[in-house]
Amino acid sequence: MAKRDYYEILGVSREADADALKKAYRKLAIKYHPDKNPGDKESEDKFKEASEAYEVLKDTEKRAAYDRFGHAAFQPGGAYSGAGGGGGGGGGFHDPFDIFREVFGGGGGGGGGIFDEIFGGGGGRRARSDSGGASAGHDLRYDLEINLKEAAAGVDKEIKYKRPVVCKSCSGSGAAAGSGQERCNTCGGLGQVSSSRGFISFQQTCPECRGSGVRIKNPCGDCGGEGRVTKTSKVNVKIPAGADSGTRLRSQGNGEAGIMGGPSGDLYVIVHVKEHEIFERHGDDLFCEIPLKFTLATLGGSVQVPTLSGKVNLKIPQGTQSNQMFKLRGHGLPNLRNGRRGDQLIRVTIDVPKKLNREEQEKLKEFADLCGDSTHPIGAGFWAKAKRFFEDL
Ligand SMILES: [Zn+2]
Ligand SMILES: [Zn+2]
Repeated sequence: MAKRDYYEILGVSREADADALKKAYRKLAIKYHPDKNPGDKESEDKFKEASEAYEVLKDTEKRAAYDRFGHAAFQPGGAYSGAGGGGGGGGGFHDPFDIFREVFGGGGGGGGGIFDEIFGGGGGRRARSDSGGASAGHDLRYDLEINLKEAAAGVDKEIKYKRPVVCKSCSGSGAAAGSGQERCNTCGGLGQVSSSRGFISFQQTCPECRGSGVRIKNPCGDCGGEGRVTKTSKVNVKIPAGADSGTRLRSQGNGEAGIMGGPSGDLYVIVHVKEHEIFERHGDDLFCEIPLKFTLATLGGSVQVPTLSGKVNLKIPQGTQSNQMFKLRGHGLPNLRNGRRGDQLIRVTIDVPKKLNREEQEKLKEFADLCGDSTHPIGAGFWAKAKRFFEDL
């Protein structure tokens, strides 16, 4: 039987990212889960098919193999034949229920347990504690771009961002002054409501009171009862010397405020270092390329090299060749942990003039006529080898 295309099974484009794949799989897995379709062979097959497609496409390597070779990649003799734990339906794929558990979390075998977990969580938000609906605020992420000089020296930056903060009018309680709480009518104070989908019924966090079982009689006018309002916050962030792209700084308590007195989340600042026109960064070392006039490379002398701390004289020995490397010790970036500075590595290239006037050409011809093979030992060695090679033919 011909196998269907994995992308087609999941109903996603070939460029779908990890999120889109997961979403598509979730949808199908819920729809065709055998617990929801007891005794329905077609649903069971579709459930297995979706988990196999997802198992392959979520794995970057397997996905690349599938994109190149199609299903053949997973058949005997293919790149992935016999790989994986087994169970499930042939071809070395995992048990579809393992994939399902991996995506939806939770242990529990078949049963309705898993469905409770899927539908019960209230839209993916963090589970709320049962004490009066208090919950921790989410962490926030801020992407901050700095330049190479700032990364080398360290820098203080003030960042501005919007976040929910505790409402001052009600001190975060969500209730108007003097107003208390009453039992939630929707769930009768249980915090949970039950409903059914298809053949199974499940418990869901009460959407009215978000699981707290209580309701504010008179919600605060400023925050509408949420206890939080969105405000622009300013935070000073100290970027340490040696920070690199991906350096993550935590600013405790500067994330979203908690709900109903719950603790605030944290703010994570992710550093991004802009690319530099001249310097390339390799860890703590800097790398750059410097073009040398061919006369300077030939005669030797010195050249002014840009470094992060200003110009530095670099001595060029006579007869410097293209791609020769030089090192300026300690002119790199400080190590984020121990502060030790890296080096600046310089590769020289030979800058050959493109346009010469008559006089320059004549002088250079004169020079060329003057030169014997011994003036160019590298070239002479090469041409000697080339000669031997032609003689062998
Ligand atoms: Zn309720
Ligand atoms: Zn308020």
